[in-house]
Amino acid sequence: MAGLMHGKRGLIMGVANDRSLAWGIAKAIAAQGGEIAFSYQGEALEKRVRPLAESLGAARLYECDVADADSMDSMFAALAADWPTIDFLVHAIGFSDKNELRGRYVDTSEGNFTQTMNISVYSFTAVCQRALPLMPEGGSLLTLSYYGAEKVVPHYNVMGVAKAALEASVKYLAMDLGPQKVRVNAISAGPIKTLAASGIGDFRYILKWNEYNSPLRRNVTIDDVGGAGLYLVSDLAMGVTGEIHHVDAGYNVIGMKAEDAPDI
Ligand code: NAD
Repeated sequence: MAGLMHGKRGLIMGVANDRSLAWGIAKAIAAQGGEIAFSYQGEALEKRVRPLAESLGAARLYECDVADADSMDSMFAALAADWPTIDFLVHAIGFSDKNELRGRYVDTSEGNFTQTMNISVYSFTAVCQRALPLMPEGGSLLTLSYYGAEKVVPHYNVMGVAKAALEASVKYLAMDLGPQKVRVNAISAGPIKTLAASGIGDFRYILKWNEYNSPLRRNVTIDDVGGAGLYLVSDLAMGVTGEIHHVDAGYNVIGMKAEDAPDI
């Protein structure tokens, strides 16, 4: 399978460090010969992202804050100047005030609701709009979701509501962009300890619960997410769009606590 991504290039948004889901996807794509440009959010993260990008031989890095339309416009203009066309884009971005990722959803503030929706949902549509002109022959757009979109997960709160909207937007975008041979998919990843996840209340408990109760009796890794991400951006998934692909050790299929799960 070596060289699956040979001759393909694209943008990965959302690497913060070597524990990021986006980094797992980047490694898998690079291992198959894909060329990657990265975007990072602000100077502090550039210090972490640049050495990682360089370790994959990537020289193109752009600053981009998806909460700011001008920042997205400048980033896509700079990318288009370097690469007039791309084959894939990975959007691994989410944000909410961590004070509202604990306790009750009903207490969500209007300000944080709007900000969470803007950064975690609308930004995917906004980057799709800007990526489309760079995909004249078609392409693949991928975002990251979580099971909290489908069922209530304690503390996930407004992020669950945002992920539900993100998953719906994947389907609408798939329909709109399909005629241009642009595929739009999401990976619904199981819980993984990352910077963003550390803001979620009782996250260690969620990890244990998934480990004990998922069919594979383990948590997933960023390499598991990377393999599925590689598939979805590659030509292997040429007939796949509008899909929410679970990479969660099977957790989403269970209806009850496993009989052999220890008490936690
Ligand atoms: P992470 O902290 O490594 O990555 C989150 C990224 O979002 C960071 O790179 C951050 O810079 C970026 N970001 C936040 N606000 C931004 C903004 N305004 N502009 C530009 N970038 C911004 O954490 P992660 O867990 O790898 O998260 C990546 C995606 O995966 C998120 O959408 C998250 O919801 C999703 N996800 C995570 C898990 C998990 O358990 N870690 C599970 C399922 C889905």
